[in-house]
Amino acid sequence: MLTVTGISRSFGGVYAVGDVTLSVAEGEVCGVIGPNGAGKSTLFNLITGHLPADRGEITFLGRRVDRLPPHRRARLGMSIVFQGARVFRGMTVRENVMVGMHSRTRAGFVAAALRLPRHRADEREIAREADLALDRVGLAEWADRAADELPIGQQRALQLARALCARPRLLLLDEPASGLRGGERERLAALVEELRASGLTVLLIEHDVAFVTRLADRVVVLDLGRVIADGSPAEIRADPLVLAAYLGQ
Ligand code: ADP
Ligand code: MG
Repeated sequence: MLTVTGISRSFGGVYAVGDVTLSVAEGEVCGVIGPNGAGKSTLFNLITGHLPADRGEITFLGRRVDRLPPHRRARLGMSIVFQGARVFRGMTVRENVMVGMHSRTRAGFVAAALRLPRHRADEREIAREADLALDRVGLAEWADRAADELPIGQQRALQLARALCARPRLLLLDEPASGLRGGERERLAALVEELRASGLTVLLIEHDVAFVTRLADRVVVLDLGRVIADGSPAEIRADPLVLAAYLGQ
C-alpha cells in the first residue's frame, strides 16, 4: 500500500530523517518506535506531505505521491492524527468532527469559498456522517457534549473520528496513547484493533514498546533518523540494537 524509498529531510544541516526506506502492506498495523527525537513525527509529516522531503520517493496505492500537496494525498486515502492534537474548545463533540468536513463536499466548498450560508440539507448530511464516525469510535452518546469536557481517552477517540471522516485507507497515528492511563490505553488498543478489522491499514507511532509490540504486525525502529530495525514484534524485542537505542537514552 505504501512504499517509502530513501526519504530524507534535514533541519539546519542535521538529518531528522536520513535515507529511510520502509513499506506498509494493506491491512496491517505497522508500529514505528524510537527514542525522543528519532525522527518519527518528521517521517509521518514527510509521508503525508505536511513537510517536503529533501530526497526520496513515496508511492501510495501504486502512485507516486511525493510531489503532491497534503490535501491531494489525503484525498487518495491518507489521514493523520498529529502528535498532541487538541479538540476545539467551546464546540460539541459532533461539531468538532463536522469542522473538518465542510470543505469536502463540492457544495460545501463553493459555499465556503463564496461565503454563502450553507444549505440546510448539506449541513444535515455532514452531521449524519459525523455521527457515523462517532459511532465507529464509540462516542455516539457523547455527540452533544462539550468536547473539552471529555476524558482524555475519549478526546483521542474523537480525533480518530475526525480522521475517519476523510474515509482513509491508511491511518497515521502519532503517539495516540501518550498520556493515557491503563484502562484508557486498553480501550484505545481495542479501537485500533477494530479499525484494522474493518479493513483500515494503520501506521502507529508509539513510545511504549510493550504497547506497540502487542498491537502491531510489524515494527520499524528509528534512531537518529535512521531505520535500525524492521521486523516482527518478537524480532524487535530481541534485537540488541533496539535495546541499545532505548537504554542509551
Ligand atoms: P520524534 O517524533 O521521533 O520524537 P521528531 O521527528 O519530532 O522526532 O524530531 C526529529 C529531530 O528533528 C529532532 O532532533 C527535532 O529537534 C528535529 N526537528 C523536528 N522538526 C523540526 C523543525 N520544524 N525544525 C527544526 N528541527 C526539527
Ligand atoms: Mg514525535
